[in-house]
Amino acid sequence: RPVQFIFAGKAHPNDKPGQDLIKRIVEVAAMPQFVGKILFLQNYDMELARRMVQGVDVWLNTPTRPLEASGTSGEKCVMNGVLQFSVLDGWWVEGYKEGAGWMLPMERTFADQGYQDELDAEMIYNTIEEQIVPKYYDRGSDGIPHQWVDSVKKCVADIASNFTTNRMLRDYEERFYNKLAARKREIVEGGYKLAREIAAWKRKVSAAWDKVRVIDVQRVRIDDEAIFVGEKYHFEVTVDIANLRPEDIGVEMVIAQQIVGGGKVNVTRTIGLKHTKTDGSRVTYALDYVPGEAGTFDVALRLYPYNPHLPHRMDFALVKWA
Ligand SMILES: *Cc1c(COP(=O)(O)O)cnc(C)c1O
Repeated sequence: RPVQFIFAGKAHPNDKPGQDLIKRIVEVAAMPQFVGKILFLQNYDMELARRMVQGVDVWLNTPTRPLEASGTSGEKCVMNGVLQFSVLDGWWVEGYKEGAGWMLPMERTFADQGYQDELDAEMIYNTIEEQIVPKYYDRGSDGIPHQWVDSVKKCVADIASNFTTNRMLRDYEERFYNKLAARKREIVEGGYKLAREIAAWKRKVSAAWDKVRVIDVQRVRIDDEAIFVGEKYHFEVTVDIANLRPEDIGVEMVIAQQIVGGGKVNVTRTIGLKHTKTDGSRVTYALDYVPGEAGTFDVALRLYPYNPHLPHRMDFALVKWA
């Protein structure tokens, strides 16, 4: 059950360790015990890569987690029915399917790279010896490795089909281009009517924003009271909205998992308050909130300019915390 390793690749002129590694592979390939078993092909280019991705049985890729940018060559292989064996890093994290290739786990076991490399090498040898080679050499009476062929079919059907330019273009079209085209049609209609309205509204809100003031906030005193799931709690924010209209302002409650020691903020929910009262330029927004989840949360109230015609909140990202 012989196995042949074929290496190819170029090291960047400034990448001395990469050049040394290639030199070492060439030296090993010349040792009598490895002649014909380890090969190094020079001048890796598209022509050579094209032949390799079509001609080999397994594409072995051994990146250091999590440094693999993508691993495009592995994608080129699965397009050609070549089974990939790689660390779950880069595209293989999304691409790998059991029974249609092989993987090394995504998580590191050791912080020390030397130990990690040793463990990975052991796992690579074990996988080749115990899984890849037996499957490849397990031939039926017709001389065909049926299980291997099953894996190749699974690889093409379940992995390759999901990594085509077609799929990528469809994603762009559906998620971005179509929406953008519809938005453009909407915004230019009638001599840029909507664009002008939004621009005028933004000018008005920008000019007034410094004068918008929170006058009063009523909320549960979280420090003094226990909060119960299923009970109703009243929140109210009274704002001097300057010369804006009540509907120009959105007020919302932001609920985040408790923020520990300046750590990452993980917002779990935002809930809008409703406009309930107008008294000249003093406007009140209120919410009866019924907690649905037990746990420790941080809660805050904030105002932002509201306009249903904005494509996204971040298109006009003004905010005031109450
Ligand atoms: C596919 C290809 C690459 C990219 O290879 P990776 O393993 O994804 O880094 C580089 N050079 C050539 C000539 C290629 O055909």
